[in-house]
Amino acid sequence: MTFTANLSMSERSSLLEQLGTRGLLEGCAQVIRLPSLERDLGERGLEVTVSGDMRVGAHLFRLQVRLPLEFPLCLPVVHLMEVTPPIVIPHLVEERRICFTSDANLLDQKDPWGILQESLGMVREHLVRMLKEASSQDFLREAVAYWGKLSKGETIDCAVTAGGKVSQVTAFYAGARLYAVADDASTYAQSLPERRIRELSQRKAIYLPLDPGAVEFAFWPGELAKAGGLWKYVRAMPEGECRALVGCLERCAGDEHLVVIGLHRPDEERALVGIQFSNIRRGHPLLDQQAEARITPISMRRRDLAFLAPRGGAGIQLRDRRVLIAGCGAVGGYVALALARAGVGHLSLVDPDLFSLENTYRHACGMARCSEWKPSGLKAEIERTVPYVSVESKRARIERLIREQESWVQGHDLVLSALGHPTLELDLNEWTWGMPERPAALFTWLEPLGLGGHALLTHARSAEGPAPGCLECLYRRTFEGGPIENRAAFAASDVSYTRDTLGCGNRYLPFADLDAQRTAEQAARMALLLLRREAAGAPLVSWRGDRRAFESAGHRVTPRFEKGAGEFDYIRAGCPVCSG
Ligand SMILES: [Zn+2]
Repeated sequence: MTFTANLSMSERSSLLEQLGTRGLLEGCAQVIRLPSLERDLGERGLEVTVSGDMRVGAHLFRLQVRLPLEFPLCLPVVHLMEVTPPIVIPHLVEERRICFTSDANLLDQKDPWGILQESLGMVREHLVRMLKEASSQDFLREAVAYWGKLSKGETIDCAVTAGGKVSQVTAFYAGARLYAVADDASTYAQSLPERRIRELSQRKAIYLPLDPGAVEFAFWPGELAKAGGLWKYVRAMPEGECRALVGCLERCAGDEHLVVIGLHRPDEERALVGIQFSNIRRGHPLLDQQAEARITPISMRRRDLAFLAPRGGAGIQLRDRRVLIAGCGAVGGYVALALARAGVGHLSLVDPDLFSLENTYRHACGMARCSEWKPSGLKAEIERTVPYVSVESKRARIERLIREQESWVQGHDLVLSALGHPTLELDLNEWTWGMPERPAALFTWLEPLGLGGHALLTHARSAEGPAPGCLECLYRRTFEGGPIENRAAFAASDVSYTRDTLGCGNRYLPFADLDAQRTAEQAARMALLLLRREAAGAPLVSWRGDRRAFESAGHRVTPRFEKGAGEFDYIRAGCPVCSG
């Protein structure tokens, strides 16, 4: 059985013609008859189709309306052929067919014109919604990509903090060419490897936060690049912000300046796009509807902290944390870099020594800083690779500093020791425990020949005061008058593992770069727990490596190594340092 429509071909054609004559569509073409795509029914299977324009806001939608054979038992089918000006078609349209209703409406088949009219009404509502939602969501989400097309690749460095307030920022020019924009000169310098701005002139610019979603009409990113388009978004800003904008504009000299727009996006960070104004006439395009100006869209290459840090898993909340690293050797070097990359805001590097070529293969700096002082060389290397972190270097011994510049040392959240020198570390441990307000200390050290590495955190502040457990607890004499031993050690303590290949007294502990990295990683993770205030007690953690190289060198491992690197209760009840 084949379906037979109740409406004749001429009745169907007449319905579609009325779309034009009754003004539902503009510029209608002639109604055409096409064979049904679904069934081959010959003459009886011809469907009628018409094309026409529907104007919604600033856009003209070219639609094709088709009456399927089943009409009026089903709805007309509407396809979107073209939009002027062109827009990115958001997900609301599937393969150009406009899904204007998903409801299985009850249709009054005795009123086919009524069905057609109502359907076109729903199409209009749908397009309005599409433009609006596309504006607040899809277009906003894609604003930066869209701006990239408008700016034709014109991109500058941007270290502007994308906040919610209008602010004066600084634009940097190389000669006449716009080069960068930042909160201020110091912020821009902090974002650069060399930490300084070379031969760039500065001019005042403006950061302008806009919320297109707060303005009723449909948002279209291209409008921001038009003089008349910007003004209405500015008009919708709170009054105080408008006043701030006027103040900022007054301070911008000349008739050419840069505005960085921070577009508020629902549930996302702001998108930053730039506009360079020139030839400004009849007022300012941000304040006056009639103003004229040449507007050049500029894309932003973002290098602001709030944008960069979270992308690398770094925590903005660690910006105000201060860590002192005593010992800038292999482990200290990697720990410092890791903490900088984790977003720690300030590092103080303390070491009295020079970099030597011998450590090329196991230091974060490689040979790059050979013959430089370790703290200043490492500082330069960190600044070269990680923006915004502030690094202070001190060519000094930590045992001196805790006596001579005690308050400076005390001004850190954590003192991390990678000295590899138990005597000095026990001294530091005792100092830390000397007063409740002294910072937490983290000791990290390596075993020889890849046997493992350790980290011990002590004197971490908590509501009940620091928990017992310290470096002193770890050391004891196995027999009276015997040597002091580290109870966490993996290498038996009766042998010296340092080597002196040159015979000149320049001894070193044999370990490889990966051993240093692994030990540093363990220490850095523990440090971050403390800095995020998530550390509990006085943990000692160890990693256990491969014993073969160590044993083939004729050495012996300890029972602790044999048992595994798991936690062991190192805390001594009668410890003279930590058991109060
Ligand atoms: Zn103790």
